[in-house]
Amino acid sequence: MYFSKLFVPTSKQDPSDAELASHKLMLKSGMIKKTAAGIYNWLPFGLKVVKKVEDIVRKNLDLSGAQEILMPMVQPAELWKESERFDQYGKELLKFQDRSDRDFVLGPTHEEVVCEIFRSYPMSYKDLPINLYQIQTKFRDEIRPRFGVMRSREFIMKDAYSFDIDPSGMEKSYEIMKQAYISIFNDIGLEYRIVKADAGNIGGDVSEEFHILADSGEDLLAISDSSEFAANVEVLEYDKDPTELDGKPSPDGKGKLSVKRGIEVGHIFQLGTKYSEKMNVKIKDAEGKEKTLFMGCYGIGVSRIVAASIEQNHDDKGIIWPYPIAPFHINIICLDPKRDEILKECKNVYEILSKAGHDVLLDDRDIRAGVKFGEHEMLGIPFSIVIGPNNFNNSKYEFSSRTEETKTELSIDEIKHILEELK
Ligand code: ATP
Ligand code: MG
Repeated sequence: MYFSKLFVPTSKQDPSDAELASHKLMLKSGMIKKTAAGIYNWLPFGLKVVKKVEDIVRKNLDLSGAQEILMPMVQPAELWKESERFDQYGKELLKFQDRSDRDFVLGPTHEEVVCEIFRSYPMSYKDLPINLYQIQTKFRDEIRPRFGVMRSREFIMKDAYSFDIDPSGMEKSYEIMKQAYISIFNDIGLEYRIVKADAGNIGGDVSEEFHILADSGEDLLAISDSSEFAANVEVLEYDKDPTELDGKPSPDGKGKLSVKRGIEVGHIFQLGTKYSEKMNVKIKDAEGKEKTLFMGCYGIGVSRIVAASIEQNHDDKGIIWPYPIAPFHINIICLDPKRDEILKECKNVYEILSKAGHDVLLDDRDIRAGVKFGEHEMLGIPFSIVIGPNNFNNSKYEFSSRTEETKTELSIDEIKHILEELK
């Protein structure tokens, strides 16, 4: 992509209505644009990151055997009355009527709809397990939308639903999904923890959350220093202040707890028969008897991950993207693009790297070099090459990394090699 053609409306000013670094940086780097409270547009630069997260999620879920579907966002109220969540879910559930005064809701989650799909077809126990997922826009009328896309009213979620004939099947499906989540978060390249959690509005007995660690996180996590034990403090006992737990012995008897802040980016649940019972989702077992299905449900906050990544990785100059979700891998900063022979060399390097399968940005704008360097740092692209009057006909270019001070002179093959290793 040539920068001169890209719609990236960057700004120098700090937005007045943003508190968190990620919110400020997403606005300043032209990734998102607010339309209403908690409702955002994704502009090209931001959407590129969303798509990279989605690709990683999709790849790992497909590998795990889950199958992608797409359910409607607009859902008939009858389904929510059957599950009894029409009244229980609270004000976050946006309700409205169509032209014939029939009640509908905007989907905040899809247990009801997926149950309705499932019960519509005669299936046998032999067809199970089945795990269906989608990546889709959700709506929750949050009381206090804030921090940009971190807690918005409209957001992108990956939600998945597993169906099994018995509890042991459900546990297996849950474990497969947990492993898929581990691969997803490893692939994304952020520091995260899995913690025991409260099932909240969704329900069920067993649930765990995936948290990206960041000092600005809304949740407090108690993590043992010498065992696997880790929990959201909401499931632990303490007197007044959860930070009291810091330094206390871990409940599993191994080591001490330390309290850290996290951003919830994933939540997995063993639901049991909570929805299938109320919504009459049954299947015939080996003896031909009707059995109520055991379900699991699994969410990932795709749009929240983008903001959480910035919370975990930024400096006073701007964003620092983990390589796997960076909108571009490398930026070719062209100094003096008005000189044909320099721009030609930049385009040549651009072609070579793009053809090798890397996401390359060419800053071909005819503006001050200082502005280009400043924006390059704000946008957080992992690497840059500078090509200008002093080096355009050399065989080596000035190569630098967003996270290291040092600059090195490298040939195009050496640069290709570095990018290849990171693929
Ligand atoms: P929270 O406790 O943050 O409100 P939740 O527990 O209600 O979230 P889930 O129902 O578990 O959320 O939804 C699955 C995932 O969707 C969450 O782990 C989170 O990453 C994301 N998510 C939930 N609410 C929002 C929101 N308002 N804005 C952005 N992402 C959200
Ligand atoms: Mg949750």
